[in-house]
Amino acid sequence: MSAEKPKTPIYLDYAATTPVDADVAKAMAACLTRDGNFANPASRSHFFGWQAEAAVEKARGQLANLLNADPRSLVWTSGATESNNLALKGLAFAYQHKGKHIITSSIEHKAVLDPCGYLQNNGFDVTYLAPQKDGCITLEQVKAALREDTIIVALMQVNNETGAINPIASIAQLCRSHDVLLHVDAAQSVGKIPVDVAALGVHTLALSAHKFYGPKGMGALYVQRTPEVQLSAQIHGGGHQRGMRSGTLATHQIVGLGAAAAKAQQQLKQDQAHTKSLRQAFMQGLSALEGIRRNGDEDNSLDAIVNISFEGVEGETLLTALRDLAVSTGSACTSASVEPSYVLSALGITPALAHASLRFSFGRYTTLAEVAYAAEKIVATVTTLRAQR
Ligand SMILES: *Cc1c(COP(=O)(O)O)cnc(C)c1O
Repeated sequence: MSAEKPKTPIYLDYAATTPVDADVAKAMAACLTRDGNFANPASRSHFFGWQAEAAVEKARGQLANLLNADPRSLVWTSGATESNNLALKGLAFAYQHKGKHIITSSIEHKAVLDPCGYLQNNGFDVTYLAPQKDGCITLEQVKAALREDTIIVALMQVNNETGAINPIASIAQLCRSHDVLLHVDAAQSVGKIPVDVAALGVHTLALSAHKFYGPKGMGALYVQRTPEVQLSAQIHGGGHQRGMRSGTLATHQIVGLGAAAAKAQQQLKQDQAHTKSLRQAFMQGLSALEGIRRNGDEDNSLDAIVNISFEGVEGETLLTALRDLAVSTGSACTSASVEPSYVLSALGITPALAHASLRFSFGRYTTLAEVAYAAEKIVATVTTLRAQR
């Protein structure tokens, strides 16, 4: 049976970014022009400012609801990259009197690894935990790496390449019992699985609007308030956001994040059920194909991310043959060359196989017809390429 051909190219790269939800875009557009809610939320002396501030506070409530957080614990930022920078440098410099050791993993996003490198150049000592074969970091690994001078553990909740989910709640408990701060990069989990900062017990948590149908260039950092976690500011200016992050608040962006959060909360179960059925249909479609492996634990990964290595094909050729499908590869272009993904390499995958690996990521607008077509196309393409070798 042949799947009906959907419109191509098919977007299967939701882990890279998502389109802005139409209702979210509408709410944002209402905060830009003269007839809209355009004013500076920090303008305390007139109606226009109050109206903008009210919109910001509404969005704060919407995001706080999604995270089960105190609304006052949220700091607006330009995205998860900035949130991770603010958390890591902010915590490190605020707590360096207690110690200078940080624990993270070797498969974090660059938005965590690069600030860690910066801190290493500034006198901090960083331990990089290697993932298990399934792409996860275990509680035992973190426990074994803790030292007297450890001040921060920084780990992602969901890995952006494999979808593997870390046991954040138990790691948070361990950190709390050792008086160590836990920062979590939740850019791939917020809006996709339930993220309850109180239940998880994290100290700081980074998120990004464009990973769940909000705008690019917008994010937030959750910072625990009771007891209060200290942050050393990284952007200095007008003292906005209690000095933690200066700069005029971008009303339209904040409203976009809030609206995306409200929609995600409303649709969470539905979205999860949808990506689960997409993943199942996709894997079912690929089941005829031998010599493939899914990277990341089958039972403990986000349904929306499926990373697969294809044996016996050459990466570049595979990608060219699959140009109908918009996906990410197991390769990263650096300035000089094409390197295998450091995440897949850390899982013990050879450079050749990493290059022949693809990340398929699904979302709210992906259809069953699209994943069925994609799977069929992949089976046919890989089979043909293997026969030619
Ligand atoms: C996308 C992503 C980031 C960066 O977020 P931006 O908002 O694009 O800066 C950080 N960490 C993870 C895990 C991500 O997936």
